[in-house]
Amino acid sequence: MIGINAPAHPEPLEQASPSILRAAEMTLVTDTAASETIERLDAEAVNSARTRQPLYAPRKKIFPKRATGQFRRFKWLIMLVTLGIYYLTPWLRWDRGPHAPDQAVLVDLANRRFYFFFIEIWPQEFIYVAGLLVMAGVGLFLITSTVGRAWCGYTCPQTVWVDLFLVVERAIEGDRNARIKLDGAPMSAPKLAKRFSKHLIWVVIAVATGGAWVFYFADAPTLLVDIVTGQAAPVAYMTIATLTATTYVFGGLMREQVCTYMCPWPRIQAAMLDENSLTVTYNDWRGEPRSRHAKKAAAEGKTVGDCVDCNACVAVCPMGIDIRDGQQLECITCALCIDACDGVMDKLGRERGLISYATLADYNANMALATASGTDVINPDRVRDAAGGLSDKVAHFRWQKIFRPRTFVYFGTWSLIGLVMLYALLTRDRLEVNVLHDRNPQYVVLSDGSIRNGYTVKLLNMIPEPRVIFLSLDGLPGATMQVVGLDQPEGRSAAIPVDPDRLREVRIFITLPADRLNDANAKFSFVVEDKASFESDIYRASFNRPGAAR
Ligand code: SF4
Ligand code: SF4
Repeated sequence: MIGINAPAHPEPLEQASPSILRAAEMTLVTDTAASETIERLDAEAVNSARTRQPLYAPRKKIFPKRATGQFRRFKWLIMLVTLGIYYLTPWLRWDRGPHAPDQAVLVDLANRRFYFFFIEIWPQEFIYVAGLLVMAGVGLFLITSTVGRAWCGYTCPQTVWVDLFLVVERAIEGDRNARIKLDGAPMSAPKLAKRFSKHLIWVVIAVATGGAWVFYFADAPTLLVDIVTGQAAPVAYMTIATLTATTYVFGGLMREQVCTYMCPWPRIQAAMLDENSLTVTYNDWRGEPRSRHAKKAAAEGKTVGDCVDCNACVAVCPMGIDIRDGQQLECITCALCIDACDGVMDKLGRERGLISYATLADYNANMALATASGTDVINPDRVRDAAGGLSDKVAHFRWQKIFRPRTFVYFGTWSLIGLVMLYALLTRDRLEVNVLHDRNPQYVVLSDGSIRNGYTVKLLNMIPEPRVIFLSLDGLPGATMQVVGLDQPEGRSAAIPVDPDRLREVRIFITLPADRLNDANAKFSFVVEDKASFESDIYRASFNRPGAAR
């Protein structure tokens, strides 16, 4: 390069005019001088336009092949149980008597109650729900530290519904190869019919899923009739529509992208895994070097591992990954690749477990064995005995490894919260009293000199039976009590009927005669009792007098 004034098609220097030669000489001198003082750095902008990759990579469709094997069967079972629980629970009945709903599990928003079989939770007892959520969180820690992402692979709603949607897809469009072929084929009447049927069934499942959810919030049979006849509240239809849309989009269309891009759990769980946690692992210490022509390679004297590079493990993976690339964020540990590979190993007459649940500690030990403590490349012969079987030195998972400090801490915390909650639940009061002291005026001086204080007393009958609650004064000698609206003589106690499962609010005036003002202690208690069940509660209150008002 001569300089910025060089012509577009520069002549060779020896043929150039004298003026151009002089200019070229000056430029070269300048460049030479600059190159002596300014170093050209070996650097490039990270988002250089020359090498910039698109920020958005279109999704590559995944067509998981149907897997068969023990883990797949276990997943079918979990799927049946979890879906069964979700869809059927609102229809279970639980007799709580004539004064309470008979739906076994019900979030009664209108009356602010949560019913779970024999347990009834009032709003002020939300601590139990919070405790259950904490237990679920700690339980998730315990499971993850022990068996990795078992939640993701087996019971997460996203996994379960994607599995269900895949069942429909396979039933209509066929297994992997048929679906790939159909996807690549131009649109035709049969393809349109298959696609339409598939999406229609997906929508039906999604509507059923959204519908089942709202049944947890009202009497299911009644709400079903209301929904079908258009009588249900708008919020019911909006909830069904929202859940229908999310189920259809997440389970049918987005699938693995929800786990990979939307769910925070894969990121969090890494903190809970240690070298003794079980994860789905490709045991390359016995699988490598992989070969598609193992017999030929062996005949040629080459060392070959057990992996025949058939890609069966990749084909069944619902996340579209290759577990042979090592642990990956996308892997939900569904173990379907274990089933696929075990099937291949069975056909080849080799031991199962080329892909298996394994701990990092065992994997490292076996890898050290296969690589002569890292001094050589993998040689699977090192993990085999003379008969060709796996050597006794190969490390296998031992269930004792489950019991380690981390799992003890998680289990201890989980159990402690559970026991405390159970104790609190079994011994909790079903009768409560709360009192609000009138603040304005704090007291009234009556014409005879006696002092009157006003109170609002709230009586909570937390059982589904009517009760007569006895309210009495403890302390404040000489004082009498009048319950407004109750046809009972003024005295130191009153019998107040309270409806089942209800709160009753009563106005109460307590009067202290003038001659008892000085010997009265300003502190006293409201005592409530149910003489039938012997339950009671107490509220400590104060009585305001001239000169002592607060
Ligand atoms: S790699 Fe295996 S365990 Fe992981 S998601 Fe894929 S099939 Fe499931
Ligand atoms: S299924 Fe097993 S043998 Fe086949 S590619 Fe995967 S790891 Fe290798």
